[in-house]
Amino acid sequence: MSMTASLIKKTSHHRNWGPMDLDLTAQPGETRLLMEHVLVPGIERIDTYESKGGYQALKKVLQSKMDREQLIKEVQGSSVRGRGGAGFPTGNKWNFVPKTNDKPHYLLCNADESEPGTFKDRVLLERLPHMMIEGMIIGSYAIQAAKSYVYIRGEYTYAAEIVEIAIQEAYNKGYLGKNILGSGFSHDMYLHRGAGAYICGEETGLISSLEGKKGWPKLKPPFPAVEGYLRCPTVVNNVETLACVPWIVNNGAAAYAKYGTPKSTGTKMFSVSGDVNRPGVYEIECGKSLRTLLDACGGIKGGRKLKAVIPGGSSAPIVTAKECEDMTLDYESIASKGSMLGSGGMIFLDETRDVVQVLKNLAEFYHDESCGQCTPCREGTGWVLKILHSFTEKQARAEDLKLLEATSNNMIGRTICVLADSIAMPALSYIQKFPEEFHAYLEKSQGSSFHG
Ligand code: SF4
Repeated sequence: MSMTASLIKKTSHHRNWGPMDLDLTAQPGETRLLMEHVLVPGIERIDTYESKGGYQALKKVLQSKMDREQLIKEVQGSSVRGRGGAGFPTGNKWNFVPKTNDKPHYLLCNADESEPGTFKDRVLLERLPHMMIEGMIIGSYAIQAAKSYVYIRGEYTYAAEIVEIAIQEAYNKGYLGKNILGSGFSHDMYLHRGAGAYICGEETGLISSLEGKKGWPKLKPPFPAVEGYLRCPTVVNNVETLACVPWIVNNGAAAYAKYGTPKSTGTKMFSVSGDVNRPGVYEIECGKSLRTLLDACGGIKGGRKLKAVIPGGSSAPIVTAKECEDMTLDYESIASKGSMLGSGGMIFLDETRDVVQVLKNLAEFYHDESCGQCTPCREGTGWVLKILHSFTEKQARAEDLKLLEATSNNMIGRTICVLADSIAMPALSYIQKFPEEFHAYLEKSQGSSFHG
C-alpha cells in the first residue's frame, strides 16, 4: 500500500469530528476568492485542485523563471496583510529577507491556530491544503528558501493527515523536490505537529519550538526575517495569508486590490461563534459592514439583541453593539473602535451575556497559557484571574476594580510577547465599556475579598 493510501485509511477514521461538520454553503454577502471551490468534492486532493486551476500560479512563476523581486513587488502591490493577527503587509515581510544567500532561508507556515474563537485556517487545512502549499512554494521561491515547514496545531489531527497527504501528492506531481518544473528551483516541505501550547502560535515561540527547544517567545529585534529559524532569515506566514498568494499571482495585484479598501485589500475569512444562528466560516470582502457578516450567519439567536462583539479572536478588546452600528470589516474601522481585526475570530454576545463572566473565562485561558518567562505576564495573568474570580464569587472589595485596572496597565507593553496584552487590553476595554456590570457585582459582594 502506498504511503498516501495508508494515510487516507487513517484519515477516514477521524472524519466525524471537528468543525468540518460546519455548513460551508456560500451565503448572501460573501465574496469567495479563497473558498470558491471549498465545497467541490475531493478538492483536498491534487487532481481535483488542478482541475479547478490549481498550481497554475506556480507554473506561471516557475516556468517563466519570474524575477524574484518582481514577484515580491506583485505581492506588495496587492497590499495583502498577514491574516494571522498582526496584519503586517506580506510583501514587505518577504522583502525584509536579505537578497544574499550567505545563510539558508526558511519559510514557515503558521498553522498553529489556537486563538479562542478562531477556526478559519482549519477549513483551509482540511479542504484546500494545496492552495496553502502552492502559496508556500511560491513564497519560498520569492525569498530563496530551499526548505519550508507547516507548523500545525497539535490538536488538528485530521488536518495534519490531510496536509501530509497533500505534501506527498505535490512531490509525486513534481511541484516539490528537485528542479521543480525544470526551473532549477528545488524545494522541500515538511509538516511539524505542535504539542498543544498556545504560545507556539507566536512566531518566535513557533521558531523556538521548531528548533526543538521550549516554545518560548524571544525578544524582537532581531526579527525573524533577519534572524529566525536556526538563526537564519525566516518568513513566518499564516495559512490564510499564503492561500491568498496563488490568487494574486493568477489574477494580478491590481485585481486583488480592487477588493476591499485601500488599506485593507481583498477578502477576509471570519470564524463566527457565539450567539448566532449559524456559527461557521465566512469569507467577506474587507470594508463590508459588520451587518453583512451578521446577516450571513443568520443573525443573533432566539431573536435576542446584540450586546457586543469580540472582533479579532479572544485577545481583541470588546466592541459594544452601539459601536458596531457603523463598524466595517477592515483593520482601520475596527481599530477606530479601540479593537482589532486580528485573526477574524468574531465572537458575538447577545444581550443576556454576562461580560464579567466572559472576561473571567478568557483570563483562565491566558493565565493557563502564559509561558512564565516575564513577571508581568506570569504574575499579572494570575492576578487578573484572581480579581475577576473575586467579582464572580461576589467577594470583591470596592477598590478591586481599580486594582484590576492598575494590574492590567502594568502588564501592557512590558513583556517579551503580547500574551500579557492579550488579556490586559480586553480587561481594560470590558471595564471601560461595561462598567455597570462590574459595579453590579460589587454591590452584590460581601466585601470579604480574596486578599485576606
Ligand atoms: Fe511568556 Fe507571557 Fe512573556 Fe509571552 S508575555 S513570553 S507568554 S511570559
